[in-house]
Amino acid sequence: MATIPVEQVEARLSGVRCPICKNNAFVVDRRTVQTDGECKGVCSTCRYSFPVHTDMEFYLRTQPDVPYRLKEIPCPGCMNRGVALDFRIVMSVREAFYFVTCNACQKAFPEQSFLESFD
Ligand SMILES: [Zn+2]
Ligand SMILES: [Zn+2]
Repeated sequence: MATIPVEQVEARLSGVRCPICKNNAFVVDRRTVQTDGECKGVCSTCRYSFPVHTDMEFYLRTQPDVPYRLKEIPCPGCMNRGVALDFRIVMSVREAFYFVTCNACQKAFPEQSFLESFD
C-alpha cells in the first residue's frame, strides 16, 4: 500500500494552523501509526491532537463524489484545476483539510475540505 511517509505528513502539516494555539508546527505521534494508514498529528506547542488519514485509496472508494470534486480544485500556483489527494486530516469539529498535489505543476497545498465528512 502506497501511503505518504510520516516525515512528509509532518512537513505538509505546517501549511495549516492549530485551532487552539494557531501555531503551525506539528509532529506525527509514531506510536499511533496504524497499518491501515491512520495516525495522530500533535501540535508541537500545545499538544493538541487530531486524526490523520493517509489511506486515500480506500477513502476515494468509499466517497465516490470526492474524485469529481478534486478535478475542480484550482491550484494557487498555476491556476489549473485538478489535484491528487495525498492525505486528509480532521483538525476540529469545524475544520477538515485535504492535502493535495496539483496534477499540472506538482505544487502541494492544503485545501479546506468541502465535504465536512467527519468520522
Ligand atoms: Zn496548538
Ligand atoms: Zn499547479
